[in-house]
Amino acid sequence: MTVRVRFAPSPTGMFHVGGARSALQNWIYAKQQGGVFVLRIEDTDAARNRPEWTEGILSALDWIGIERGSYEGPYFQSAYADEHRSAARRLHDSGRAYYCDCTREAVQARTGNQYTGYDGFCRDRGLPPGEGRALRFRTPDEGSTVVTDLIRGEPTFENKLIEDFVIARGDGSPVFLLANVVDDMTMGITHVIRAEEHLPNTPKQQLLWDALGVKPPIWAHVPVVVNEKRQKLSKRRDKVALEAYRDEGYLAAAMRNYLMLLGWAPSGDREIVPWSVIEDEFRLAEVNPSPAFFDEKKLRAFNGEYIRALPVEEFVEACQPWLTGTDTIAPPPWQPDEFDPAAFAAVAPLAQTRIAVLSEIVPNVDFLFVATPLIDEAAWAKAMKAGSAELLDAAIAAFEAVGSWDAETLKSTLEAVGAERGLKLGKAQAPVRVAVTGRTVGLPLFESLEVLGPERSLTRMRAARVRLV
Ligand code: GLU
Repeated sequence: MTVRVRFAPSPTGMFHVGGARSALQNWIYAKQQGGVFVLRIEDTDAARNRPEWTEGILSALDWIGIERGSYEGPYFQSAYADEHRSAARRLHDSGRAYYCDCTREAVQARTGNQYTGYDGFCRDRGLPPGEGRALRFRTPDEGSTVVTDLIRGEPTFENKLIEDFVIARGDGSPVFLLANVVDDMTMGITHVIRAEEHLPNTPKQQLLWDALGVKPPIWAHVPVVVNEKRQKLSKRRDKVALEAYRDEGYLAAAMRNYLMLLGWAPSGDREIVPWSVIEDEFRLAEVNPSPAFFDEKKLRAFNGEYIRALPVEEFVEACQPWLTGTDTIAPPPWQPDEFDPAAFAAVAPLAQTRIAVLSEIVPNVDFLFVATPLIDEAAWAKAMKAGSAELLDAAIAAFEAVGSWDAETLKSTLEAVGAERGLKLGKAQAPVRVAVTGRTVGLPLFESLEVLGPERSLTRMRAARVRLV
């Protein structure tokens, strides 16, 4: 039997990091089993049927390493409406489903105003189909439904606790539970690896597989992803969009490594490992079923390590989207013709060790490319103390006189200027740094001055001096 897994996102306009994690787990499982990964876009909800949302899913998958052309699909759930309806009909014809015209209010009135599920009122009324009549599945009264779950063992659900659930709405349209099962059948899916949120649907879906006479798949419900308060990651509260991380400058390699650690770890005391190790070592059965904490701080630290490990040319290449702007990344504060690739290449190794996400490249290097530095007023207030004007005067005079404009000379020169005033180098640097870069933190100052060159450095120091009058 060829293993066939699927990733079945509902388009929402953004790609949830939890979805990315499930996609990767499916992807690896298929690869390990010599199987096939199928992509199915669950777009039956008309509001979700937007081509640009599908394109967003495909490009997010590309980014994370599941590339177009290397999987089967995308299939679109909306294209299988006939199959969904025909399955609903078969279930009705075989007596496994019945029409129901109860309103929620009527059920509530009968069940003592406590809505605990459907009470089976229409089970034996033999209603024909009709406008406004929902189709309900006739859940067995006895026995239990045992689900084989690679992560959770054999969760067992008592059938008598499962209500006669709706499989097609009053307008005849099949609901998600049924459409999802029918698609999995049509596409020959053998293993359903998906988020824990769907575990409560599983006994109902397995009953549908049984009733339709097809052997159900093996399931694997991967743990819910939570924030630091142990709340399920939500798009209203948390940063959940993979695209947001991408546009902030997380590397795909760091992201997918981190995502695979949600509920699982490679052998040894390692977390940052090459993708090939993850592909070899990952075992679905080893995934911890408890909620997995998505720790953004840890992800950031991971990303910093991945950035530092890049060969510098790759780092320079990886920074390009932030240096130019794209359709989703804001343009930098300089004009395209102000950018100097040689100056950037000169400071890139210094920046590479200091940033944790690629977007941080911009505030670290903007001083090189903007005509006048973007002064951060809080930084200015912090750096410009009594005595700063005199210090700048002395530094300007000393820098004007250096024989060679290189980092080492500039450093010893400013050191001497500071020493004459009883200032350590750190204190003497602060006004110069703010004058030249606009900030109190950033790349090493003297290397920055060297790359910026004498003319622009001195002009900025003089301008700051004027401002201090
Ligand atoms: N479309 C469903 C979702 O995005 C997936 C259901 C499934 O994986 O079975 O949650």
